Amino acid sequence: MIEVRDLYKNFGHLEVLKGINNKVEKGEVVVVIGPSGSGKSTFLRCLNLLEEPTRGEVYIEGKNLMDPRTNVNQLRQDVGMVFQHFNLFPHKRVIENITLAPIKVKGENPKEAYEKAMQLLNRVGLADKANSFPSQLSGGQKQRVAIARALAMNPKIMLFDEPTSALDPEMIKEVLDVMKDLAREGMTMVVVTHEMGFAREVGDRVIFMDEGKILEEGSPDEIYNRPQNPRTKDFLSKIL
Ligand code: ADP
Ligand code: MG
Repeated sequence: MIEVRDLYKNFGHLEVLKGINNKVEKGEVVVVIGPSGSGKSTFLRCLNLLEEPTRGEVYIEGKNLMDPRTNVNQLRQDVGMVFQHFNLFPHKRVIENITLAPIKVKGENPKEAYEKAMQLLNRVGLADKANSFPSQLSGGQKQRVAIARALAMNPKIMLFDEPTSALDPEMIKEVLDVMKDLAREGMTMVVVTHEMGFAREVGDRVIFMDEGKILEEGSPDEIYNRPQNPRTKDFLSKIL
């Protein structure tokens, strides 16, 4: 589903990604961990061209993102993303947040887009909030709307960048539960999160990144219980 070969990303003179190689299979749930500033967000953003790689290759379903013939808009539809700070449109109602891109970008008929949005809101437990504005929602509710909005494009892959880091503790579970359901339904997911419970329950693989490189990867059991790299050990001792 995703193949990354020798990916580099620089911001000016700052080298942020220094040769990332990885493959994600269809239906796989990959959890990315690592210190702040290690390049986790940049890595995710390169997977849907929110950042343009400096060097290297990213393939989504065999299509090379860097190939000028690749349809970037189609690709962005296939790769949904959920951010730490929700990024909802503040002046649009919940339902409009969800239907906007399907109607404007995909050309879906508004009635069908609306019906699908209501199904998605049901699924994330927020059908009663369809006509609310984001400012009227809790953080956990906003994030569930953001997930519904991403799903409305029928993505093949979902990227999550610290989706629960900005949430109060009591709201983390409601968001993780939605993500776990998605994982169990077979969605291909790359998730930057330090929620070990999530990784252990539905993660197939955990990647440890530091200073722009993947230093170690393995099953949740291997990484959390028997980390090999001293930097992985050191990092885990600080967060667990
Ligand atoms: P992480 O998500 O692991 O905390 P990031 O990918 O956000 O790490 O950032 C990695 C490094 O890249 C940091 O030093 C950050 O300041 C830098 N960086 C990220 N985005 C930009 C940008 N748009 N311009 C310049 N530097 C950036
Ligand atoms: Mg980040």
